[in-house]
Amino acid sequence: MSNNEQSKPSNFIHQIIEHDLETGAHNKVVTRFPPEPNGYLHIGHAKSICLNFGTAEKFGGVCNLRFDDTNPEKEEQEYIDSIVEDVRWLGFQWDGDIRYTSDYFDELYSYAVHLIKAGKAYVCDLSPYEAREYRGNFNTPGTNSPFRDRSVEENLELFEKMKNGEFDEGACSLRAKIDMASPNMNMRDPMLYRILKKEHHQTGNKWCIYPIYDFAHGQSDAIEGITHSLCTLEFEDHRPLYDWFIENLPVPSQPKQYEFGRLNLNYTVTSKRKLKQLVDDKVVESWDDPRMPTISGLRRRGYTPTSIRNFCDSIGVTRSYGVVDMGMLEAAIRDDLDKHAPRAMCVLKPLKVTITNFPEGEEEWFELPAHPKDESMGSRKVPFTRNLLIEQEDFAEVPPRKWKRLTQGVAVRLRGSYVITCDEVIKDAEGNVVELKCSYDPATKGANPEGYKPKGVIHWVSADNSLPCEVRLYDRLFTEENPDGDKERDFLELLNPESLVVLSGARAEIGLKDAAVESRYQFERTGYFNIDKSSTADKVVFNRTVGLRDSWGKQQN
Ligand code: ATP
Ligand code: MG
Repeated sequence: MSNNEQSKPSNFIHQIIEHDLETGAHNKVVTRFPPEPNGYLHIGHAKSICLNFGTAEKFGGVCNLRFDDTNPEKEEQEYIDSIVEDVRWLGFQWDGDIRYTSDYFDELYSYAVHLIKAGKAYVCDLSPYEAREYRGNFNTPGTNSPFRDRSVEENLELFEKMKNGEFDEGACSLRAKIDMASPNMNMRDPMLYRILKKEHHQTGNKWCIYPIYDFAHGQSDAIEGITHSLCTLEFEDHRPLYDWFIENLPVPSQPKQYEFGRLNLNYTVTSKRKLKQLVDDKVVESWDDPRMPTISGLRRRGYTPTSIRNFCDSIGVTRSYGVVDMGMLEAAIRDDLDKHAPRAMCVLKPLKVTITNFPEGEEEWFELPAHPKDESMGSRKVPFTRNLLIEQEDFAEVPPRKWKRLTQGVAVRLRGSYVITCDEVIKDAEGNVVELKCSYDPATKGANPEGYKPKGVIHWVSADNSLPCEVRLYDRLFTEENPDGDKERDFLELLNPESLVVLSGARAEIGLKDAAVESRYQFERTGYFNIDKSSTADKVVFNRTVGLRDSWGKQQN
């Protein structure tokens, strides 16, 4: 059953917004997707993208794309470019230009000055280590910094000097003056600005102090007039701080934050830091390696934007923590490709078949439907020749019970063409089967054979006229359901050594010769595939997106 045909999963954010629109608390919805450009987006971000853009779409509002770029140490233009590309590819359009938190550095600076003037912020000279000591912990209240009672004038002067680059990194910071005894650690005089003598990808060398994420995030939302600031549950404890800023600053609007549960998927990791480690350690080829749960990796694997959006819709939006089964994501792409991917035949591990009663050099073309249920997709043509290839697995010398494929003395239909019978098995010196001598029954073109019954239907291609290709079969990247959760072993020790299997001798039907990169197919009986971007004129590469059925944990074929 298709995911999106199931009963609508709950979305508590939509309920809140419906209420806000009914009561007139808001008359327009403005949301935003606020990634930090410190890595590529993953499937968890897709949930946030679908929620933010989807909510705006649903209620006739708008959604901004804003890069939360307060940490030039970890951010790069490459990440910005990839994020823009991913959001676009998913099919969403942001309102106006792309925005950056760094666009608001001047305002944020003036907000900091505002707090200083109100006696609500101070420059603190404690070292990072000392500041941690003073902060206390969950059971122990913090201790006031000895610099907490500096005068407004002194703080203004010191903050100005921080901005002008007169202090070294770490020499001091600007902190809010709230409550060192608060049970909420975030309220214990949190840092607002730090000195960082790093060039910024947007602002160059204009600044050597940068606002802390917590100080920038809510105010940026306020500047943009965001009505509903949606974020994940880890930020619930930060909400009192965000509210404190909004109450104490002359901001142009008052966004409200709502937290929802992150998406976690089993058998993978959804943390940019860990994904970066996989790339840096060369465990995978790149951020868009088809085994990665990144949006670009899923795209290269063969996922469609529709499948990812349907998946995100199907999991709902709640305030609870949960792990979603990878099988649900796979079901979403299977569903979409089953409807829309043209069919083709490809023999992954070929075994030579010689049709002894078919003349050498002759070709007979068969016309097959591109899709069994959708005539509008048209048809394709495949050549039948004397030399054919079938799947090694479709022949057994000693067949198991209920064998529905080829064996000596038995007949099968070659999908869309003739019925053949295996007359003779040729082996090499080691006893491996290397060729089958078969005969075809000319009377079986579009007709059942007279007096005997084929055992089954198998796929095939012509050995004389087919497309040599490389096929990459993927499996889960980790062997454990929760690779993050093992206390003893690092997630890198839980990698699946068989997450990629390369078959270099595959052959696809010749009609696929000029197919474009990213073209998707169902290869009959073997799964859904798409053409990888590494394909060249000499070598076409197919990625297996997913098998035809959910056979994980069972025997895969
Ligand atoms: P990571 O933990 O992977 O580094 P992040 O939360 O630091 O992710 P951001 O770039 O800050 O990454 O995220 C942008 C938006 O995406 C945020 O609003 C964040 O809450 C949301 N988001 C990130 N991960 C998930 C997830 N797994 N499920 C749902 N939303 C997520
Ligand atoms: Mg973050």
